[in-house]
Amino acid sequence: MSKTPVLSLVHISVRGVVQGVGFRPFVYQLAAGHNLRGWVRNTSEDVKIEVEGDARNIEGFLRGLREEPPPLARIEDIAVTAGRPAGYAKFEIRESLAEAGKYQLVSPDIATCPDCLREIFDPADRRYHYPFTNCTNCGPRFTIIADIPYDRPNTTMKKFTMCPECQQEYDNPLDRRFHAQPNACPACGPRLELLDASGKVVPCDDIIAETARLVTEGKIVSVKGLGGFLLAGDATNEKAIDLLRARKNRPAKPFAIMVSSLDEARRHCQVSRAEETLLASPGSPIVLMKWKGDSSIAKGVAPGLEYLGLMLPYTPLHHLLLRETGLPLVMTSGNLSEEPIARDNDEALRRLGNIADFFLVHNRDIYARYDDSVMIVEADIPRSVRRARGFAPHPIRLNYRSQQILGCGAEEKNTFCLTRDNYAFVSQHIGDMENLETLEHFISTVQLYEKLFRIEPEIIAGDMHPEYLPTKYARSLAAKEKKRLVLVQHHHAHIASCLAENGQSGPVIGAAFDGTGYGLDGRIWGGEFLMADTASFTRVAHLEYLPLPGGAQAIKRPYRTAIGYLAALGIVAGHDLEFMKQVDDIEFDLIVKQVEKKINTPLTSSMGRLFDAVAAIIGVRGVIQYEAQAAIDLETAASHEIGEAARYPFSVTERDGINIIKLHDLLASIVKDLHGRVSTGVIAARFHNTVAGMILELCQLISSKTGIKRVALSGGVFQNRRLLRQAVARLESAGFGILTHRQVPCNDGGVSLGQVVIAQHDKEVEHD
Ligand SMILES: [Zn+2]
Ligand SMILES: [Zn+2]
Ligand SMILES: [Zn+2]
Repeated sequence: MSKTPVLSLVHISVRGVVQGVGFRPFVYQLAAGHNLRGWVRNTSEDVKIEVEGDARNIEGFLRGLREEPPPLARIEDIAVTAGRPAGYAKFEIRESLAEAGKYQLVSPDIATCPDCLREIFDPADRRYHYPFTNCTNCGPRFTIIADIPYDRPNTTMKKFTMCPECQQEYDNPLDRRFHAQPNACPACGPRLELLDASGKVVPCDDIIAETARLVTEGKIVSVKGLGGFLLAGDATNEKAIDLLRARKNRPAKPFAIMVSSLDEARRHCQVSRAEETLLASPGSPIVLMKWKGDSSIAKGVAPGLEYLGLMLPYTPLHHLLLRETGLPLVMTSGNLSEEPIARDNDEALRRLGNIADFFLVHNRDIYARYDDSVMIVEADIPRSVRRARGFAPHPIRLNYRSQQILGCGAEEKNTFCLTRDNYAFVSQHIGDMENLETLEHFISTVQLYEKLFRIEPEIIAGDMHPEYLPTKYARSLAAKEKKRLVLVQHHHAHIASCLAENGQSGPVIGAAFDGTGYGLDGRIWGGEFLMADTASFTRVAHLEYLPLPGGAQAIKRPYRTAIGYLAALGIVAGHDLEFMKQVDDIEFDLIVKQVEKKINTPLTSSMGRLFDAVAAIIGVRGVIQYEAQAAIDLETAASHEIGEAARYPFSVTERDGINIIKLHDLLASIVKDLHGRVSTGVIAARFHNTVAGMILELCQLISSKTGIKRVALSGGVFQNRRLLRQAVARLESAGFGILTHRQVPCNDGGVSLGQVVIAQHDKEVEHD
């Protein structure tokens, strides 16, 4: 030990994602490297450190703490205070400390790291082919944690007692597995089991090899993953895909594919550098990329689509299975249609028994259900489409200190959001709130987040739509617990979520384009221009109201919307238009009569419905099998038209200070193009140009009156990549500042974030 002229001591508190990420061993080694003594410990709110030694060494230590933390750590704050030297003899790692009312951030689950991957394929390693290999740099986190601090007894690993070798790794501060809570090996950890659909064990010597054989034969195997059961099948086998579609009751919605490596990904998709980085990132999301024409993946995986969702293996089990089969595998959520993903072994057998032929299960329990995350890269920026495994519960950082608020979210693609301090904890994707199972999943996940982050909401926020299940839940919860209830307009929430994740408060011009959102006038909004900040909004422009013949029926059958729009606008479209051939005379007359007499024809200003109507009119899609299919097909139809620059006319009129975008000229021009035998691809491209132009034109108009030069783009319509690209380019060249979504989805998965932001700022109106 060197002689130190002056002995100093500092207390350090490090906050952020600093537990379960190898932070304490890092601190231990850093302290040793700087010849310091003292201790480090996890508490319920931070990592506390006390170091003693030469003042200059302490400075070096602090620099290292800030500048070279472990790869998965996310430091939010380091607080340093001086103390009186205590005369420590060594540096040690102390027991974790649980404190009432305190909380800390929790890491999401992390894809298998290169070191662990090397071990599972090294025949000399004791973890050779062990599917539950992990270390402090990778493995399950949030899916196995029941409470904080993140220590083994608080996880679903508590039932596995470590063998002496694992214990030694766990106790050695210089080991990669030091305090790796899910640490395990073939001698002491979780084990695989292969079951048939009735739950009987399938006897075999090598479970992975047997599973691979079954998949290669065209069987559907349900594989227990990190956040729930997935359904796996050979992605190159058209018959296996058809079988899975039929059993899962999912006729056309695309499936995600797992491929063994980046090289394999490049065989099927055009992979940009940004996409490559995203695929291989610790979060390991599904990335939607351009599908190559010569890919061996069956067309039925994503019928007629331009983009394919690929992901890399993110657990050792996946790596082993993918290597053994040598095939790209469909990996889709283990559920029937829109139910939540199955989690427990017996639940999977019960719910998926008619879908899967076999079950690859294990005895490590899953605590929190998690779907795979879905992302895209557009304009070189990774953007979330579905935020779940690998990302939640990382909070969104707010630019203000928030009260404790629960935002219950929207009906579709539901997430909820809880706030405290500077954090907005947006939950993982919960799903469409249309069945009891999803509501139960919602409630239990709210309770888990409240417990982990020690949140007791003072305000309950929800959507204004009276029929939304999350709104009803918000209402009853607020009444029961006598809390303040704030109901937020849907599109205002969209724009506020975009503001919040960009660290802004507004005012902005918000273009909120989606399918459905309850309007202040009780009508269905969805093609909205708002002047908005985080407290309030004014509706400054919108698409004109047009009728949806049969309401929900029109959403499922875009040809009804098309006929309704054409009829209401007085555009004569006879049976010479191709799309009319799918409609018989009786139905056609009925729709027109419905529109004339205003029977069951709710009015909407929805941009999503305008995309539906155009897709139907040009014959791209008249009936949908999954949400947004018509708009997706319209975008796909335009995909080959690179140079098309023409656009259709539309007009704007002002009524009571609001600009109404009139659609007669637009739709009439499309019908004229159809009569002139212009190709559907060109019409689709022109339509996209028109909407992008509409955004610019309206923003300029609004800006000239308000002086606002910043635009926020939100709502599910902006999942349309062509539109997003064009809108951003046009606004940028016109000198607008543009806010878009990255961390939370632009679709209704982002609404809960907007709700909590508005509930915090909307102080004027006391809702009941
Ligand atoms: Zn690892
Ligand atoms: Zn062991
Ligand atoms: Zn929406």
